[in-house]
Amino acid sequence: MAEEQTTESLAFKTEVQQLLHILSHSLYKERGIFLRELISNASDALHRVQFVMLTDDNVLDADAELAVRITVDEESNTLTVSDTGIGMTREELIENLGTIAHSGAMAFLKNLEEGQRVDEIIGRFGVGFYAVFMVAEEVRVTTRSYLPEAEAWTWISSGASTYRLERAEKVERGTTIEIQLKEDAKEFASTWRLEQIVKTYSNYVSFPVYVGDEAANQRTAIWRQSASEVEDEAYNDFYRQLTMDFQDPLLHIHIASDVPVEVRSVLYIPSGQDRGPLRSRPDYGLKLYSRKILIQEHNKEMLPEYLRFVEGVVDSADIPLNVARETVQSSRAIGHIKRALRSRLLKTLQELGEEDPEVYQTFWASWGAFLKEGVATDFSGRDDLLPLLRFATSKSNGELVSLAAYVARMQEEQSDIYYILGDSVASSARSPHLDYFKSHDLEVLYLVDPLDGFMVQSLREYEDKPLSNVDDPDLELPEEEDEATPADDLAPEALGKLIVRFRNVLGDRVSEVRESKVLRDSPCRLVSSEGGSERDMQRVRRLLEQDYEMPAKILELNRGHPLIGHLAQLIASPSGDAMADLVIEQLFENLLLLEGLHPDPSQMVPRIQLLLEKATAASIGSES
Ligand code: ADP
Ligand code: MG
Repeated sequence: MAEEQTTESLAFKTEVQQLLHILSHSLYKERGIFLRELISNASDALHRVQFVMLTDDNVLDADAELAVRITVDEESNTLTVSDTGIGMTREELIENLGTIAHSGAMAFLKNLEEGQRVDEIIGRFGVGFYAVFMVAEEVRVTTRSYLPEAEAWTWISSGASTYRLERAEKVERGTTIEIQLKEDAKEFASTWRLEQIVKTYSNYVSFPVYVGDEAANQRTAIWRQSASEVEDEAYNDFYRQLTMDFQDPLLHIHIASDVPVEVRSVLYIPSGQDRGPLRSRPDYGLKLYSRKILIQEHNKEMLPEYLRFVEGVVDSADIPLNVARETVQSSRAIGHIKRALRSRLLKTLQELGEEDPEVYQTFWASWGAFLKEGVATDFSGRDDLLPLLRFATSKSNGELVSLAAYVARMQEEQSDIYYILGDSVASSARSPHLDYFKSHDLEVLYLVDPLDGFMVQSLREYEDKPLSNVDDPDLELPEEEDEATPADDLAPEALGKLIVRFRNVLGDRVSEVRESKVLRDSPCRLVSSEGGSERDMQRVRRLLEQDYEMPAKILELNRGHPLIGHLAQLIASPSGDAMADLVIEQLFENLLLLEGLHPDPSQMVPRIQLLLEKATAASIGSES
């Protein structure tokens, strides 16, 4: 046979040339991914020959072990990756590694220009093979197809504009890739280093990947087993491997579905925020696999952001390695997987809340705030999120109740769900806003998390019942039965004078002073003049914006309260002015404290001492 027929030089397509130029001339941090790409191709080739053998008896080397073998020679700085997969004919070599069908190269280059990282995207554009040129001086691919009559060929390239094809001597089926490493890529001529890379990226490939004599990969991917075969201990072990969290997870969820999109996933809810010093994951996100090959370490797309506390893996053959060819389908597939994961996760939590309230409390204490963020940000997931919320209430004695439980014990004529925004359960429980609700035995939700003000923006109703803030001055409350003013209530004229006094003392710290219609046991309260959502956001803004100033509030007085009566008498007496002003100041600051709005409570101490001095003096006087 003539020499030209056995050795032949061919040119790469232009965009492949560009791609090769970039890969072989740039410096990359994560060069180890070249091995992931070669193993992924080998694994594909093994799967394909396995499939062919199901129906075709006439396959070369039908008994060969299906495996990948990696060998190194430190001295010559070379590395070999070989498989017993389907192999390639001469035509396939040219088509797959050289000239045609590489629209993916263009797409890949464009993504690189847009600042994407090579290691994050290279496997996705059908150009993964070329990653080898990040580390290779020269690459020789010798391959023999499974077809018994096919001949073996070698493809040789140093990553420049051309490649050579040579007839080869290869007896066994499959592909062998010999890599002459670059000087600066010597690190990859180390068995230890290669084992590390295999464990990181290719640990769950179904075929053994031998580095030297031993298989370096674990192979069993628990997310690809059926849930009934996996022991709890195995789930927990895998969780520890994944997160280095020393505690067991609170729960795991194993998801397996094939229609309309293939998904295999194991998700974990960690038991707490504190996961120990070894915690190895500085960033959040699920590990994303495509047919057991790791394609992304921290995928943030598969779950909504507020579920960032969830750990786990997701694997789908429908997330194509090759986005360029199937963009529309792939984004549809991703959309579907996202919805499936979210809804399974939230449904499982809902069941936990119903079936094991105690564990749910632990969950809520660690991660409840994230779900509140979800209510505020994820409109389409709301129906699944609302059953997960829990609040302390004015009647729950410190226990947390769901909205459903609140609604179930609403009074017959009660139309609204009432809530109070505050700094803590303790201060909310003492709030004057609750006077009316306590005396009418109406339950009030305590929203005491800084995020709650933000959350109620989106939670305006639950099961057609509006949520109403108890400090809303326009709140329509059922009228009292016996509306008649008791005889010892302050007369309108005296109340009028007292209101003027309050206005003078407090100036623009209050927007208005007026009589209250709802107070019972408290002398006064502060209400907001702004509309509902504006009011709920004030607390959030105070946290987020440094120089945010709360707008002045309306002060309401309870004309039936003895203290208000005494004050009215004081300002009517010639010498009572100074004392009255002190009391007014102190009453106002008490309210700020109860609302959780006092900037510096210790400031009140001198005034309180002065008041005590006067009170003790008056007691002695009245006794003598
Ligand atoms: P992708 O794997 O996304 O198709 P690659 O650039 O990694 O893109 O590989 C290109 C093609 O080369 C593969 O689709 C396959 O047809 C062929 N190929 C690469 N490596 C092997 C191998 N070890 N055995 C058989 N075919 C291979
Ligand atoms: Mg590939």
